Amino acid sequence: MRQNIVAGNWKMNMTLQEGVELATEVNNIVASKGANCGVVLGVPATHITEVVKAVDTAKVSVAAQNCADKVSGAYTGEISASMVKSTGAGHVILGHSERREYYGETNAILKEKTDLTLANGLTPIFCIGEVLEEREANKQNEVVKTQIEEALFHLSAEDFGKIVLAYEPVWAIGTGKVATPEQAQEIHAYIRSVVADKYGAEVADNCSILYGGSCKPGNAKELFANPDVDGGLIGGASLKAEDFHGIISAF
Ligand code: PEP
Repeated sequence: MRQNIVAGNWKMNMTLQEGVELATEVNNIVASKGANCGVVLGVPATHITEVVKAVDTAKVSVAAQNCADKVSGAYTGEISASMVKSTGAGHVILGHSERREYYGETNAILKEKTDLTLANGLTPIFCIGEVLEEREANKQNEVVKTQIEEALFHLSAEDFGKIVLAYEPVWAIGTGKVATPEQAQEIHAYIRSVVADKYGAEVADNCSILYGGSCKPGNAKELFANPDVDGGLIGGASLKAEDFHGIISAF
């Protein structure tokens, strides 16, 4: 069944102590007020173990923001999917536009990362989305289709069924410029149709497709009200428990 999910992406913010405090606050709010959706915290790798200890992972899953495209070995500074798994994390954010842009992550690299994430029993939150020039040239559909095809369409239907997609128009990330609910619905429906063409209607219908890009408590409800928008990947507004909860409670 398709699941609604609100996932935070803390990026490179928060000391360990601040992160544990924030995660504890989020956990306490979810425990006391409940959540009508899955809740995920995408935290820096250094924080995962302590954040896992600070939350009830049955209610608040913890995500890495990246993992290596190699199994193990002489890759100084890298963190493998099996290491992430061993911390108690449940998800890995893959292919965020910042990683694509600043760290040269290609669809071919992301294909490897996806395979390793799945092989280790972790759920990828796989980011796709176009940059401003591509949107202005009306190429957004083409862009997201290629990203999905090249990184994910080698998967079996069973494995594709384990993927969470996050549509994040790069022009909306951290800019305060949010996609309109109509723009979000239009491209989410298109993404679902691309999945349906490859894997069939049932797999497509069960696929959670999150929206990301300046999603806030004030606009989450109208974005999530769309039939093909199954929640959000939240950057800035995930750094304050109250704001993050404001988005969770849009469901
Ligand atoms: C993100 O980085 O995934 C994101 C959506 O950021 P923001 O919510 O700050 O735009």
